[in-house]
Amino acid sequence: MPEQIIVIGGGLAGLSTAARLAHKGFDVKLIEKAPKLGGRAVTIPLKGFNFNFGAHAIYGRDQSVLRKYEKELGLKVDWKDFSPEKAFYDLGTYTTPVPATLEGLYKTKIMDAKNKIRFVYEVVRTLVSLERGKDGQTIGEYLQKEPKQVRDFLLTLASSNFFTNEPEKIPSPLFFQYYKRLFTTHKPVAYIGGGWQSIIDGLEQILKQNGGEVITKEKIQTAEVVDGKVVAVHGKEQSFQADLFVFCIPPSELVSLFKETGYESLFEQYTRYRANQVVVYDIGLSRRIDIPYTYIYHKEKRVFLTDISYYDHTCVPEGGQLIQAISYLNEEEIEQNIADEKIKNIEEVYDKHFPGWRDVLVTKRISKKATVQEIKCVEDQQLMPVKFYSLRNAYFAGDWCQGEGQLSELSFSSSYDVTNQILSQSFH
Ligand SMILES: Cc1cc2nc3c(=O)[nH]c(=O)nc-3n(C[C@H](O)[C@H](O)[C@H](O)COP(=O)(O)OP(=O)(O)OC[C@H]3O[C@@H](n4cnc5c(N)ncnc54)[C@H](O)[C@@H]3O)c2cc1C
Repeated sequence: MPEQIIVIGGGLAGLSTAARLAHKGFDVKLIEKAPKLGGRAVTIPLKGFNFNFGAHAIYGRDQSVLRKYEKELGLKVDWKDFSPEKAFYDLGTYTTPVPATLEGLYKTKIMDAKNKIRFVYEVVRTLVSLERGKDGQTIGEYLQKEPKQVRDFLLTLASSNFFTNEPEKIPSPLFFQYYKRLFTTHKPVAYIGGGWQSIIDGLEQILKQNGGEVITKEKIQTAEVVDGKVVAVHGKEQSFQADLFVFCIPPSELVSLFKETGYESLFEQYTRYRANQVVVYDIGLSRRIDIPYTYIYHKEKRVFLTDISYYDHTCVPEGGQLIQAISYLNEEEIEQNIADEKIKNIEEVYDKHFPGWRDVLVTKRISKKATVQEIKCVEDQQLMPVKFYSLRNAYFAGDWCQGEGQLSELSFSSSYDVTNQILSQSFH
């Protein structure tokens, strides 16, 4: 019976893996190279504002793995449901509601009446699996059969859910799988009171309460493999042995760890895939600038703004406001290094919707190239398996691994799959 488990990488995937295994009675050590746990979900405090480094919303919360952690592990999540009536598209000359509810669908001008009926028809076909896409066809190709307005709208929707500039390149089966799940949810988007740091802290607490150990500032540099089994991992100072190892670190790190073991080739293919990257430009304001919406997506510039502080009051000093802006980057834009142009675009959208923001600006946080997902789900890019046949006691989780959903949901769902596999092989 495996008893000792080492989890490498303390992002959401590593933390949730370690917490669940400790809760089930395993002897767990979690090793993280940074001084703090959380990876891309950490919170950055700046002048009294708490900026989420990355993750800010949960999509389809009633079906999220986080719900399972609430029930199973007692993780406390302060869900703050998004108000669909406050979500708008900016179409350049006018704004119009996002059709996230029946009322929104009735009011929106993003489609005319005839196309709205066609859209509803497509939603029903997706729900009953009559629309499943076609292997080898991207959603852009697949939707050629649709009227232009419906096609455009479905791609705009995918652009915001998959955080991408090139929604037309999403594989069509993945698109319908994703929306079948999202269309059945009653809670399409939720924010988290206390920010994502509260989830990190909650998982760390569960891990420690169940006897788990956390080791930070320890970068694992090599893995030692004997007869198809990992026997130890080595950091700069210490070595760690265990029965099982769960690697929650990206493919490029795995190649480096497994160098000279003969197993590095398992991971090489996944280092060649493109990541999903964005420009982030968040602002902290000394007082609220109230506007009719909390989410606005500028269709042409492909920028979205979210008033995070409307949902999570803990992220601002009294009376303040924190707005997050994200602009998607496609491959060409990353190569051309045009983040400055994106920053200008974002400022224009801020100027348009939050007039006077510059006068009440206290602090801002800009990231010119933030990795939203390690492997972007477009065309033939493949997510990594959570287990390889030839490495018998090693498992893998993270948003680069196979699982349900996108973004952090991939970290949680791949981790859940890994822990299920470990549990099914043990007597715990
Ligand atoms: C700007 C932005 C916006 C986002 N918005 C959303 C959103 O709205 N909704 C959503 O669901 N998701 C969102 N995400 C994505 C979400 O943040 C990530 O999917 C998630 O945090 C990834 O967690 P992870 O554990 O899989 O990976 P990571 O967070 O990358 O964790 C990997 C960890 O491993 C550690 N590590 C690496 N190498 C080693 C080593 N050799 N030894 C020890 N430790 C090591 C790293 O330091 C890190 O802590 C967003 C991300 C960004 C950047």
